[in-house]
Order: sequence, then structure tokens, then C-alpha cells
Amino acid sequence: MNTALVRKRLVIGNWKMHGTRASNAALLTGLCAGVAVVHDCDLAVCAPFPYLAQVSSSLAGSGISWGAQDISKHEHGAYTGEVSSTMLGDFGCKWTLVGHSERRTLHGESDQLVADKAVSAIKAGITPVVCIGETFAEQEAGRTNEVISRQLAPVLALGAQSLSQMVLAYEPVWAIGTGLTATPQQAQDVHAFIRAQLSELGVPQVRILYGGSVKASNAVSLFAMSDIDGALVGGASLVAEEFLRIAAA
Ligand code: PEP
Repeated sequence: MNTALVRKRLVIGNWKMHGTRASNAALLTGLCAGVAVVHDCDLAVCAPFPYLAQVSSSLAGSGISWGAQDISKHEHGAYTGEVSSTMLGDFGCKWTLVGHSERRTLHGESDQLVADKAVSAIKAGITPVVCIGETFAEQEAGRTNEVISRQLAPVLALGAQSLSQMVLAYEPVWAIGTGLTATPQQAQDVHAFIRAQLSELGVPQVRILYGGSVKASNAVSLFAMSDIDGALVGGASLVAEEFLRIAAA
């Protein structure tokens, strides 16, 4: 089976903690108006929790899906401030990021917690987008594959059935929001390393996105790489035209 043929391109926008009702309305209107330029690519946006209802109703019928940026590993209970996957699933959430580097770094999320969150999402019918990636120091020390393996270990341990319901996102921490991008070959090498592990487990078709300062100007060369199945886009997803140009690349 040629898994490249069955892996449909996927581009997800991560709005991070940005937006107001007014700015979101303009962005969503721009996305809906321009989405016709995008073909053969799944397109989604992950917005802050308070705006998910706005995003959901504005994108209805557009073909663009939506998701959250994080979830709790718990289904319900005394966890003040947390939002569960069952709650998100209750109103049609399709995706959730888990283990974004900002969550790992600023909120101390462990590799095991990230895997637990992925399980919770899958149980609720939500596709987790599991983010992994090394820091600049780790990359400089030649430890990229070691770090990726460590972060992936509890996720791979979930087995083929769970993995087939996930998306992975390789996001080198040094490239997120910095304007620095991994070269297409650097990104491809890590994606191929991840793909080899997925293949060993019988799930080579799992989509692997690249994230880190993706823009319309570098998307074409990144997407030309055989193991890059799309992108997780931060800053550039806040500008409708730029985001759609990435998805159309
Ligand atoms: C991200 O937030 O996941 C991201 C990749 O951000 P940026 O595109 O701004 O680097």
C-alpha cells in the first residue's frame, strides 16, 4: 500500500490565546469566503475555549472543522478550571491539540500526561493532535531523535488501534513563533524517523504534521517532502488569506 496516497493533507490553525469576538468574526468570514481555493486538504482551526461556540457556528457548512487547544485527562469531577473531552465531544468538537510545547514548558505537562489526554480525546470521538519536538539546546546536542523517542514512548505504547485515531505534529520548539523554520530536509528526516516507528507498529498511515513558523512562502517546499502530511500553523493562522494560501500550497 502506498501510504502517501491514503494520507490526505491536513492543515490546522492554532490561534493560541489570541482573538476577540470581533477579530474572530472577521477572520472566520475571511476563511469561509476564501476556502474554495483549498483542494484535497482537510482544514481546521483550534481556538480558545470561550470562542469555540462562535467558531462552530461561523464555520458550519464551510467544510472547515474546528477543535480545542487542550483538554483534561479526566472525564468529569472536581477539577476546577479543566475542560473535558466529553464536554467538547458533546458539542461536536473534532480535534484537540495535546502536548503543545507551550503546555509542556509553561504548564509542566509530562509525556505520560500528554498520552493520557490523547486517550481521553479518543474515547470522546475527538482526534488528538499530539505535539512533539526538541528544544534548540537538544537539537544542538544532536539529541533530537532521543527526545522524540522519549516523548513518543507512552503514545506508541497505546498501540495501533489508538494510534490510527491520532495525528502527530512534529514542532521543533526552536521554530515555534520564532520565524526560524526547520529546513524541509531537517523536518523530513525527523518525520521519516517517526514514520519508521509507526510502520513497525503497523500504522504508517498516521498523519504527521510539521509546525514551526510555517508560512505561505515555505509551505510548498515543506509539503514537497514525502513524510510531511500538512502543517500545524500558529501565527500565520490568524490571517485568513495567509492561512488559506498555506492550505492551498
Ligand atoms: C504553533 O503554535 O503550534 C506554531 C507552530 O506556531 P508558529 O506557526 O507561530 O510558529
